[in-house]
Amino acid sequence: MTSRVAIFGSTGSIGVNSLDVISRLGGKFKVTAISGGSNVDLLARQAKKFRPKFVCVGDERLAIEIKTALPRETVVLCGQDGLKRISSSPEVDIALFAIAGIACLEPLLNAIKSKKRIALANKEALVSAGGLVMRLAGKNGVKIVPIDSEHSAIFQCVDGREHDISRIHLTGSGGPLLDVPASKFDSLPRSRILNHPKWNMGRKISVDSATMMNKGLEIIEAKYLFGISEERIEVLVHPEAIVHSMVEFFDGAVLAELAVPDMRLPIQYALTYPARIACPVRRVDFAASGGLTFRKPNVRKFPCLELAREAAASEGTAPAVLCASDEEAVRCYLDRKIKFSDIPRTIERVLAKHKNKGNSNLTVERVLEAGLWAREETRSMCCH
Ligand code: NAD
Ligand code: MG
Repeated sequence: MTSRVAIFGSTGSIGVNSLDVISRLGGKFKVTAISGGSNVDLLARQAKKFRPKFVCVGDERLAIEIKTALPRETVVLCGQDGLKRISSSPEVDIALFAIAGIACLEPLLNAIKSKKRIALANKEALVSAGGLVMRLAGKNGVKIVPIDSEHSAIFQCVDGREHDISRIHLTGSGGPLLDVPASKFDSLPRSRILNHPKWNMGRKISVDSATMMNKGLEIIEAKYLFGISEERIEVLVHPEAIVHSMVEFFDGAVLAELAVPDMRLPIQYALTYPARIACPVRRVDFAASGGLTFRKPNVRKFPCLELAREAAASEGTAPAVLCASDEEAVRCYLDRKIKFSDIPRTIERVLAKHKNKGNSNLTVERVLEAGLWAREETRSMCCH
């Protein structure tokens, strides 16, 4: 049977890889919808190749622009309304979320309400509103299969035995600044910060890897996905990026998932789960690897890790504030408004100012509101 897939954010790094994976899986999957922000040319090329029924762009002007380049029968949609229509369409079986940022939250919730199977790459929605997302998924009997490589690894190791987890060892390569002294951070060119040693990703997540906020966000992601307290999630620096995370069970046994760093593998697994199908990624050559090493992260050098841990423990709207403030601070850094070391400093100030009302009566609206507040605070701090 063919599964019909909607790819939200098809023009991004994960989206492009997802289409590549699907094109190699033959007739098992059919792309019925794609969406992108403003890259109309790429979206039109993808539409010509995959012939989806729905194509969604950022706004009405872009919708008019792309319409002329698409086959007449294509349904062209735009904005959050367009994403909503796709996420609840009866012509979609699997919703793959590769939109960057909080814009993913509402279409994700909508897809869960519509009982779609979820393949989830986006992390901001889970970080900001993980409790709400997981509760809704439980209520609707919806399976969320993570794509983020560490969470895909944990998902594979846990295999439904969440109650037996003692600890999670969340691995990370350490990013491009692992061995650079903190005193040099502000003088490095942006190209050096954006050039990740192991993964080729979008700009925002690349900066997050350099500050290690990416790992911090992943602690919160894992907390909600697997229902485990942040105190039992340990970050482990693993520069070779072969072990994608490990799960320690109560009896002391540790299971790990190992593979070369290539996002096509977790993307494919999220689509084919629980089946395993041949995938064209390189195989690990253990004998030639020169060894697999692990060390504790330097939390003084990378303060974002502790900021994320504190936000995870506070719960309520703190994770949403952390996430939104980070998104905005990274944008300001990329726009040359602030220095690299200002990123954690700004987020810390915004979190200190935030009035967290806790988990009681937490709603999507309150999460979004807290995020908007955090963005404005961050912007005003960055512009002074
Ligand atoms: P990207 O910036 O390369 O692509 C983002 C996609 O989302 C694009 O298609 C863009 O057009 C679309 N988009 C952005 N803002 C939008 C908006 N407001 N409305 C509608 N569409 C919008 O990002 P990416 O690196 O592919 O990452 C996507 C998500 O996956 C992020 O949440 C990221 O944290 C997560 N992730 C990425 C990787 C990776 O290897 N790139 C790994 C793990 C997790
Ligand atoms: Mg990751």
